[in-house]
Amino acid sequence: MDAGALAANWQTLDALSGAASAGAAVKANAYGLGAGRVAQTLTQAGCRDFFVAHWSEAPEVLAHVPAAQIAVLHGPLNAADVAFAKATGVIPVLNSVAQARLWSKAGGGRCHVMVDTGLNRLGFAMDDLGDAVFATLDIDICLSHLASADEDVGQNASQLARFDGIRRSVRARRFSLCNSAGIALGSAYHADLTRPGLALYGGIARPEFAGKIAQVAFPEAAVIQVRSLQAGDKVGYNATFTAQQPMRAGILSVGYADGFLRCWSGKGRFVWQGRALPVLGRISMDLTIVDLTGVPECREGDWLGVVYDLPLAAKTSGLSQYELLTLMGHRFSR
Ligand SMILES: *Cc1c(COP(=O)(O)O)cnc(C)c1O
Repeated sequence: MDAGALAANWQTLDALSGAASAGAAVKANAYGLGAGRVAQTLTQAGCRDFFVAHWSEAPEVLAHVPAAQIAVLHGPLNAADVAFAKATGVIPVLNSVAQARLWSKAGGGRCHVMVDTGLNRLGFAMDDLGDAVFATLDIDICLSHLASADEDVGQNASQLARFDGIRRSVRARRFSLCNSAGIALGSAYHADLTRPGLALYGGIARPEFAGKIAQVAFPEAAVIQVRSLQAGDKVGYNATFTAQQPMRAGILSVGYADGFLRCWSGKGRFVWQGRALPVLGRISMDLTIVDLTGVPECREGDWLGVVYDLPLAAKTSGLSQYELLTLMGHRFSR
């Protein structure tokens, strides 16, 4: 991970958020990059609001960030979650009347609230906001989430109109609507706090971010064996590649169990000292075979970079930029 690029991306997104501050979605191990190190880097950069999905994701962030700056998006599902929130001071995002009652019955205290404005995923329905329990809540952030911020469609304006209604009727200290893509929709959407995830980690959520957001994830794999191929030799499972002339092949310690999925078979590229090296044949669970013919100086023990420019990699692989990041497995040291 390039921590400098991560910090710079947060600063860029904070500036693009105008009068609002940028927080950070660090769920799913900070999109695969390592929640602890990401939280540490972003706190130093000035970020004050962190979002995880599961309660189990909170401790790694808590090691670097004050509890009151950590929000758990899935909210309390049972008494154990409530007890964890009370014991640590991590703030729950309440998503329903049932969650609000659970929190209120346990004594309440500061919380966040998610309201659904059209995604129909987690969150209070607009009709639930009149429930008696809602008026008892001590709400720090009132959130909603955009369904299609990466597209220019009418749904954005209709969610914004609902959100503006909520801002007039709900009592909360702060309001927050935008994910990464939403930040590019303009100041009307920014409210008090934005919640970028993808763009922090180098994802280009909308064309407006191209050239402003830097790549952060640079996966690498070691060459653990080099072998010579003769014309006619077949390579990898099911022999999908056949050498047409003598070649040099490198066997890399990375495979689909690490998130380098089989869709990269015959399509992926690695890089060594600026030279692009194509993948030969199928990706295996733990290994990938690359063409080292053009780099005779490359040896066992050398590390190759995966070509992982996210928009381009998404186009080539058919995976989303989100998947490309979150797939990276636990065997990568971070
Ligand atoms: C994941 C998530 C985000 C971040 O979304 P990106 O598209 O990655 O910027 C923001 N808010 C909520 C509620 C989320 O679940």
